[in-house]
Amino acid sequence: MRFANVSGRACLVLDGRAVDIAEASSGALSSDPMMTADLANHPGLQALAAAMDPADWPELRQADLGPPVPRPGKIIAMALNYRGHAEEAGLAIPSEPHVMAKFPTCICGPYDDVPIGALDMVDYEVELVVAIGRRCKGVAGKEAWQYISGLTCGNDVSDRNEQFRPPVRQFSLAKSYDAFGPIGPTMITPDEVADPNDLALSCRVDGELRQQARTSDFIFDVHYLMAWLSRYVTLEVGDLIFTGTPGGVGDSMDPPTYLRDGQVMEVQVEGIGTMRNRIVAGSGAGTGAGEG
Ligand code: ZN
Repeated sequence: MRFANVSGRACLVLDGRAVDIAEASSGALSSDPMMTADLANHPGLQALAAAMDPADWPELRQADLGPPVPRPGKIIAMALNYRGHAEEAGLAIPSEPHVMAKFPTCICGPYDDVPIGALDMVDYEVELVVAIGRRCKGVAGKEAWQYISGLTCGNDVSDRNEQFRPPVRQFSLAKSYDAFGPIGPTMITPDEVADPNDLALSCRVDGELRQQARTSDFIFDVHYLMAWLSRYVTLEVGDLIFTGTPGGVGDSMDPPTYLRDGQVMEVQVEGIGTMRNRIVAGSGAGTGAGEG
């Protein structure tokens, strides 16, 4: 199945059309997009998908898409999970995962602008994101996929200045500014792809290819991550795991090259789709200005 958040409502995507889940089920299923991350709802969604004629529903429009998981309880992000990224950063290959948090309010839609205020060291990171579909603790690695409800693209936008500010590195804040967590454009169940452990992913900036890899290059695969993380923390429905970024980030270019006003980041994961988020200077991050 493929899910989308269309103007804040949970939808099934069938043949490029958006089936409003609450409307199609006459209110039996929730309109909240968070419901698609809950594996308990998947049998009902499968029955609905089988019964629907997509021709009766409107085409999916990019402009209406929000983040498929708009209010994750927690977001755990992997610091180093591709050899190429560890090598370009001059860091040893880790023997155990390193993680940080992204605060849930950083989540934004797949085509939303990313405001950076006056920041001059903002960077992109394409990542496969997995959504937890069932509460779990102490997961046996081989069972990992049984607890995952969805896969989507993520861009772990990062302020490298704050991330590496001495004397203590501050990863979590530097990756959590408002709109520093675009996800989407849709979310798929793992059975939508031939092998969820081997997906191509890439990032382009203004059309220029910057990152390209496959998730089969992970240092720690999804089985390992789920087993390792759930040893320490309970994973809950709607939590997200950003699984790490491959080599090619702007911070490791020679000379380091950061995102500028008006540039467009295109983040793509095989089988899921492509997000396009534009960098907008002058407002947002660090300016104290905003909608609050
Ligand atoms: Zn990352």
